[in-house]
Amino acid sequence: MHKEMIITIDGPAGAGKSTVSKMLAKKLSYIYLDTGSLYRALAYKGVKNKINFEDMEALNNLCSNISIVLKNSEGQMKVYVDGEDVGDKIRTEEIGLAASKISAYAVVRQRLLQLQREAGRNGGIVAEGRDMGSVVFPKADFKFYLDADIKERIKRRHKELLGKGNSSELLAIQKDMETRDNQDSKREIAPLKPTSSSIIIDSTKLSLQEVVDKIVRQMANK
Ligand code: C5P
Repeated sequence: MHKEMIITIDGPAGAGKSTVSKMLAKKLSYIYLDTGSLYRALAYKGVKNKINFEDMEALNNLCSNISIVLKNSEGQMKVYVDGEDVGDKIRTEEIGLAASKISAYAVVRQRLLQLQREAGRNGGIVAEGRDMGSVVFPKADFKFYLDADIKERIKRRHKELLGKGNSSELLAIQKDMETRDNQDSKREIAPLKPTSSSIIIDSTKLSLQEVVDKIVRQMANK
């Protein structure tokens, strides 16, 4: 396999994208790009500064005055907001919902586009998000779209939050996930959807390792 390939993995929250993308990047010795964390980084600063996300001027200022730096080390992607390693602080449901809200705005998507393309400039990357195959890397070598039944996605997110020490009710997670699914797939700019050349994988009944194996098989067969 060529080192320079760009592999995109899109799909809704809780479909297993992050773990699968990390595992795949590790297997191929590629860079892992988690683009959701960029939207979360912007949302984090916005929430911290109590910005009204409906106020376009405030949103414009947020986008112009934030420094977001990505660092890849040992298969992990670290995000620095104005010099601060934001780590798990951006992994909460509150920040996820805020990220989903601001991600519908052109100014936000534009602010993050170059950063994402720059990360994939030399290829050798597994890029995960909502519009990796459709907008950010339309010429990607392989485009995967990972989906799963909403009940399974809720269970996975619950487990993930517990693992990070954030307890949350299943019902609350369901509500947040439905809101995000709705916002992400119905927005006008870069809505979440597979492209005509995406390979769709339903991970509902598969372990994450099985999903990775399936991806690797698909790539070998082309
Ligand atoms: O993937 P994650 O759940 O961390 O993403 C948080 C939010 O960021 C998503 O719900 C989505 O609204 C937004 N996002 C996006 N485009 C991407 C990645 C994430 O709009 N490429």
